[in-house]
Amino acid sequence: MFAFRETAALDPDPRSGSRVEVAFTDASLDLREGDRLAADLAALAAAAGVPFARLNQVHGADVVEVSGPRAELPTADGQVTAARGVGLMVRVADCVPVVLADAAAGVVGVAHAGRRGVELDVVTRTVERMRDLGAADVTAWIGPHICGRCYEVPATMREEVAAAVPTTYADTSWGTPALDLGAGVTAQLAASGVVVTEVLGCTLEDPRFHSHRRDGAAAGRFAGLVWLS
Ligand SMILES: [Zn+2]
Repeated sequence: MFAFRETAALDPDPRSGSRVEVAFTDASLDLREGDRLAADLAALAAAAGVPFARLNQVHGADVVEVSGPRAELPTADGQVTAARGVGLMVRVADCVPVVLADAAAGVVGVAHAGRRGVELDVVTRTVERMRDLGAADVTAWIGPHICGRCYEVPATMREEVAAAVPTTYADTSWGTPALDLGAGVTAQLAASGVVVTEVLGCTLEDPRFHSHRRDGAAAGRFAGLVWLS
């Protein structure tokens, strides 16, 4: 169920008891809106001990503060909370899932950064919303996504995105224009003073993860998750 799970006691003062759980799911779950979703969300909530708030993701840069799951999904590509007992979810299949936390402040966030999200800098918008809630020292986990050696794009698209975020400029392993969205997100987070942990894995190359480029319309969705315990 989890390709990666880490409990991070980021607060150096153990008396605070403040801990953050970070996880990325694998392809054993399919978190698309569809027939399997209710059962897979229930399995996930049972494993994590919290229900997860999800978003209607639209490749934008809007960020919402949430206090729990809603029947009507907020339209946004980032969400933040300081509430206990609720998990945050973003769903991806090649785009970059970013998990953010300041355990000492008890503030967490997630962002969905595809090509448009990188151009619009959704990760910085998400960090800013966390700071509005009192976050100071933010750590990020950049989850599995299509890598810069695999994410082929037209040359004009590479020029356009790299004009906004220069570190995205890349070539595929076969020598054609590409974008490295992970490098773009890493630079954006570093510019915001966020410490970055890279969670290894290219979705196109690693069958443990869903990939839209590999599987097309049949591709499922995996998730980046964070919650306070
Ligand atoms: Zn790759």
